[in-house]
Amino acid sequence: MIIIASHNGAIGIADAMRVLKHGGSALDAVEIGIRAVEANPADHSVGYNGYPNILGELELDASIMDGRTLNSGAVALMRGFPYAISVARQVLERDQPHVLLAGQGAERFAREIDAESWGEMLTDEIKAVWRERLAAVGATHRVARNSDESTELTDERPLLDLVKLATDPERVAGTVNFIAMDGVGDIACGVSTSGWAWKYPGRIGDSPIIGAGNYADNRTGACACTGMGEMAIRASTARSLVLYLQMGLSLAEAGRRAMSDLRDLGGGYIGGMNLIALDRDGNHVGLSTDAGRTYIFQHADMDTHGEVEREVVEIPSRWAGAPCA
Ligand code: ASP
Repeated sequence: MIIIASHNGAIGIADAMRVLKHGGSALDAVEIGIRAVEANPADHSVGYNGYPNILGELELDASIMDGRTLNSGAVALMRGFPYAISVARQVLERDQPHVLLAGQGAERFAREIDAESWGEMLTDEIKAVWRERLAAVGATHRVARNSDESTELTDERPLLDLVKLATDPERVAGTVNFIAMDGVGDIACGVSTSGWAWKYPGRIGDSPIIGAGNYADNRTGACACTGMGEMAIRASTARSLVLYLQMGLSLAEAGRRAMSDLRDLGGGYIGGMNLIALDRDGNHVGLSTDAGRTYIFQHADMDTHGEVEREVVEIPSRWAGAPCA
């Protein structure tokens, strides 16, 4: 039994390991571990109190994959429900043959299954950060309604330019990754995020895209990504790593190949990427474009998790937009 996770999964990995030790499945462990991160108000990149899109709305993406069957469930652009991973799990369990539900359809499904709904998903602190960010690029005006004053986007402001100005993926993004192998050797992989801060409304990242930000196959292993999702979508990063394993590469070599595929991408929006991966023998790796990044792991016989530095694969960043100061 083993669990690996991105470093922000530290808040949930002990609960996830408890699930495995009590005979729970890898899918159960991944879901429990990620729920703890989604509920954490201090994590501004996952679940409740994540950074919102450019309109100030929190849109969540998540997916979960079962390595036994390759069955998968995913939601994208979901508003009002903090536990995106649990809704994704229910897409996998109940909604066959669908894999991915987005926007209003995902929210309708969440209501139908009585998923926990918190209504307000942002604290005043995060709303203030959003307001300041927009004000800094001159995109807001004050609106007085009765006794309330609020900030709104200036009418008819084209969002396309605004997103280029306000989006700063190097500093205000993040995701949680969990990969577990249970007592019978089944592997599951889960990913959850609020995506880039200030993203264009309707933008979907790699986290709910099976093959991009998440892939698990009992026969070989699993991989999950955080970082600039558009890159992982374009290169099918998680699936690529698993396929490289299937072709006979070692886990470390498969990780390096998947990362170097990203280096070969053309175009001007190339940023940071991180991945973690587990093979069917329980070996694990983490790779990153940035030095000093870590990931965590826990075996059944460990009292607490360990932390490991990720191997660096350099990908020079090319950013065509004009990030905010
Ligand atoms: N991969 C996420 C996304 O693109 C964000 C991140 O991990 O930083 O939505």
